[in-house]
Amino acid sequence: MPAEQLCSSCVKAKRGKNGKVQECLVLKNLLGKTGRCFAYSNDPDFWDNLRQQVELYNTRKASAG
Ligand code: SF4
Repeated sequence: MPAEQLCSSCVKAKRGKNGKVQECLVLKNLLGKTGRCFAYSNDPDFWDNLRQQVELYNTRKASAG
């Protein structure tokens, strides 16, 4: 699948008010990667799940001292 088509349905893409993809928030911004995407997701709960995992990690890290 072409990258633009892949990004158009991916929850990790930042979109403008018109819904058009502006940039990738994960592959390029967080991981600094370009080229073929390995991070596509159409999971509507992706960002909530990620936030929960980060909070859990930080809680465990803090309690481990
Ligand atoms: S993760 Fe991949 S498919 Fe999703 S927006 Fe970024 S480049 Fe596109």
